[in-house]
This record gives sequence, structure tokens and C-alpha cells, in this order.
Amino acid sequence: MITILSGGTGGRRLFEGFLSVHSPKEINVIANTADDIEIYGLHISPDLDSLLYAAAGIIDDERGWGIKGDTFNFHSMITKIVPTYSWFNIGDKDLAIHIIRTNLLRSGMTLSQVTAFLTNKFNLDCSIVPMSDDRVTTYIFDGVVKRHFQEFWVLYRAEMPIKAVIFDNIEHAKPNEKALDLIISSKLIIIGPSNPITSINPILSLKGFRNLLVDSEGIKVAVSPIIGNAPFSGPAGKLMQSLGLEVSSFGVAQIYKDIINYIIVDENDPNVDRIKELGIEVIRTNIYLKTLEDRQRLARFILEKLYH
Ligand code: GDP
Repeated sequence: MITILSGGTGGRRLFEGFLSVHSPKEINVIANTADDIEIYGLHISPDLDSLLYAAAGIIDDERGWGIKGDTFNFHSMITKIVPTYSWFNIGDKDLAIHIIRTNLLRSGMTLSQVTAFLTNKFNLDCSIVPMSDDRVTTYIFDGVVKRHFQEFWVLYRAEMPIKAVIFDNIEHAKPNEKALDLIISSKLIIIGPSNPITSINPILSLKGFRNLLVDSEGIKVAVSPIIGNAPFSGPAGKLMQSLGLEVSSFGVAQIYKDIINYIIVDENDPNVDRIKELGIEVIRTNIYLKTLEDRQRLARFILEKLYH
């Protein structure tokens, strides 16, 4: 078994690589759900959706979210009437998933059950597991107000001061049982090249999760989402810097230092010796995940090096 910890972009791209070079039955992903948000009364799980659409081969890879070829009739109609709704785009096909999820949750199903229902409907053999069935919500605090992570990123494009990152309800949320089982039983656990602060940290911060990961017997490897001194995309650099962390593969290694055996960094990464001093083996290779070929190459590389 192979388990990947992931958000909706970098980790998702690596997940796609694994699904296309290895038996999907052996591929599991534990998804961040702290980005989940309620809009128009609908429960939206951006990272679960991206992973689901990617596994089903229908993600809009160019845009990075939503369904390929989707239309936006619902969005234009609702924002014509109430223009302030315009900051969060929802495609018409995407909307169907949000409505189904919301209704099933209201009927009493857990988020894991709903996710399993959806993966079944898309005939997927891999498993996509929400980190928790309880709500955890990431807020970015600017010193005066706290904003939902989606607002911070989608509405404000990360253009606000960052004084703190808050995972609301993290102390009460239970990690998903299936996720814990996967950590215990997987031979290879990959911390995907996702945002360490807002995609991976919520998962690691769930009660008992980090300790279980530290104690688990599988090989644990992280893939860096940072190349040189910047992330490939997204606000990871700004978040790391605001929290006093170095924006580099070394900064990423510091965050995961008690957990991982290996870190995979860019082939020209200059931090090898510094990372080794943390007690982590460093593997250098091409970590671009732009095309499907890139994703397959990195997945194959990891399998050859670390999965026997
Ligand atoms: P989110 O849920 O959309 O925030 O997505 P993730 O947290 O899963 O992924 C965001 C991270 O993916 C960013 O920090 C990027 O640097 C990283 N990323 C995006 N593209 C690539 C890539 O081609 N290679 C690597 N190694 N990381 C990438």
C-alpha cells in the first residue's frame, strides 16, 4: 500500500502520476479538508474534489480546479442577481457534486462515506480519504480579523498581512479511522508536494496523527513543493516566510524533520548538506509536475527508489 498526504494541487499532481503507473487499488490519498467552505449553503471540499476529478480524469488541469469543459451558467445567473457572490466560481457540473455532497451530509452520512459514494460512482479503484469527518477550518489572521483560507487566497490573492494561521476546531476533530489504518499499514507514505502550512499541517495537527506517523514502520518521504527560494505556485512561500520559516527545501525539511526518512528535492538544490544534518536522506531529481509525463516520471522514480 502507498499513501499520499495531499492538498489539491502539488500532491494531486503526484497522485495522478502514481495512478497511471501503478495499480490504483494500492494507491490511497489522505486529503486536507481544512480548506472546506460553505457557500450558498453548500459544503464545498476543494481538495477532495480536485483529487476526485483528477482520479476520474476530468479535472481542468489548465485552470487547476473544477471540471474540464464545464460551463458557468449558474455562476453568471447568481452573480447577476447578487454581485457580491462573485468571488467564488462554481461550474455547473461542479455544482452537482456540491449539491450531492451537501444533501448526503444532511441525510446523516459522514464526509468519508460521501467521498466513498462519489469514488464508487466514478468507478475509481483508488481510495480518497478525508483527513477527518469533523470540521476543521483554516483561517488566516492579519492581526485584526481572521479570514477563511479560501477568502485569503481566492478573494485577496494572499495580499494581506499574515500574523497567524488558525486551524479552527483542530483540538476536537478526530482523525479519520481509515486514515490512521493507512498510516499503520502502508509500506510507503508520501507527503506530497503540497503547501506544508495550509494543506499538510492541518492533517499532521489532528490529534495523534503526527505521533502515529512518526512511529509507523513504512518508509516516509516528502517531495518538496519549493524550488530554489519559491514555491512552484500558490501562497506557500508567503505563509512560510510570515511564520518565520526559510522558504526553501530546507525550510520544508525542518517542518517534517521528526517524521520523514527522505526528502526529494530539485536536481540543483543547494541544501543537501544542511538537510542531511537534520537526519534526513536527500534525493535530488527533477521535481516538476507540469505534464502527465513529469508526474509519471516522478512516481516511477519514487517506486524504483523506495518501494520494494
Ligand atoms: P492547494 O490545495 O491548491 O493549496 O494545493 P496543494 O497544497 O496540494 O499544492 C500547492 C503546492 O503545490 C504549492 O506549494 C506548489 O509549490 C506545489 N506545486 C505546484 N506545482 C508543482 C510542481 O510542478 N512540482 C512540485 N514539486 N510542486 C508543485
